[in-house]
Amino acid sequence: MAKVPYKTYLAEDEVPKAWYNVRADMKKKPAPLVDTATKDPLPAEVLERVFCRECVRQELDDTTQYIPIPGPVAEFYRMYRPSPLVRAYFLEKAIGGPAEIYYKFEGNNTSGSHKLNSAIAQAYYAKEQGLTDVTTETGAGQWGTALSMASAFFGLKCHVFMVKCSYEQKPFRREVMRTYGAEVTPSPSMETEIGRKINAEHPGTTGSLGCAISEAVEAAMKLPNARYLLGSVLNQVCLHQSVIGLETKAALEKLGVKPDVIIGCAGGGSNLSGLSAPFIGEMLRGEAKYRVVAVEPVNCPSLTKGEYRYDFCDTGKVCPMAKMYTLGCDFIPAADHAGGLRYHGMSSTLSELYDQKLIEAVALPQTKVFEAATLFARVEGILPAPESSHAICAAIDEARRCKAEDRKETIVFGLTGTGYFDLTAYAKFNDGQMTDA
Ligand SMILES: *Cc1c(COP(=O)(O)O)cnc(C)c1O
Repeated sequence: MAKVPYKTYLAEDEVPKAWYNVRADMKKKPAPLVDTATKDPLPAEVLERVFCRECVRQELDDTTQYIPIPGPVAEFYRMYRPSPLVRAYFLEKAIGGPAEIYYKFEGNNTSGSHKLNSAIAQAYYAKEQGLTDVTTETGAGQWGTALSMASAFFGLKCHVFMVKCSYEQKPFRREVMRTYGAEVTPSPSMETEIGRKINAEHPGTTGSLGCAISEAVEAAMKLPNARYLLGSVLNQVCLHQSVIGLETKAALEKLGVKPDVIIGCAGGGSNLSGLSAPFIGEMLRGEAKYRVVAVEPVNCPSLTKGEYRYDFCDTGKVCPMAKMYTLGCDFIPAADHAGGLRYHGMSSTLSELYDQKLIEAVALPQTKVFEAATLFARVEGILPAPESSHAICAAIDEARRCKAEDRKETIVFGLTGTGYFDLTAYAKFNDGQMTDA
């Protein structure tokens, strides 16, 4: 067989024209969002008070296998998609074989991560509905940046509540958002009722995604023509991110390669869900078998240490309840540097797949993750985001296992983003001051 190229891109006419909805192939479906008081599944009319209409339709649709990507979204995708599937020859060499390693790189856009795949879709549906404003939260800042870009493209005003510790650690992220016209507020703020309450109860708190979500939802309800958009966890976000997996699968098929292990970091579960969806679909239909591995930080181990039950999605308990692997909505993780992996719960789709043993999970300490990030940066040339580095680290562990067992396996992982805004974390690591506590 011809040697696989270092980078494989799909041609424009090979890029996916529809998203793949893995729930359609699940016999046992993920549990629905329910009302916090009655515990009844929430009908579309109620969800539409908070979320955009079309997003709610997608959220509740667990029967349609393929959902067409709207024209304007597909056009926007052309600016930065298809993303490359890279054969990690240099990393393989550093490990010393025999595993073959590939990664799907989603960092080639200004927001620096896969989040733009869903941001542009959600902003489009908000615009279609005639809204003028959108609100959201951002942890590490990638989602806020992605939604700021998407909002600017469709002429929407974007209000971002940014978790305070990230706001302080990453001032340049804030400037990117402001350059795209967004208004950025550190959370918990004094601008919402819930923010004032959290500040009063936890003086000096550096915030959490759960707090920022509550603030953004409250802000959306108070603005005249706004809805709240979320960058992970929800079914619709996992759906939009399936573009990653569909491209990966098409590229691997072009190369005649079948993966053994598929690895992704898991915060709210959207990138891993998206990367793995078409492969899990094959498993659900009994057509193929893969190992799918979710990688989380030991400081926020929702899958490996959480319980599978209904929980609140946010600290302020203003959102519906979701059935998911959760550490509890009051859980405030230690100040881990992988801001995008600090959510207390996990997407209900991924949670259900984990419960059905279709995916595995591991939790890794951040110093080990940064060692992997450093090796990767040096041999493959890309400075990875701390979140993505969890997947790199697990991929290296798998490749070393292959070496120890002298087994040739094919490993594919999601490289979700770049680490240019995470240099405070790299500085800590380089100064030997990073801990795993
Ligand atoms: C947000 C983010 C993640 C984690 O979110 P998921 O919804 O689990 O994908 C991972 N990597 C990067 C770069 C991110 O920005």
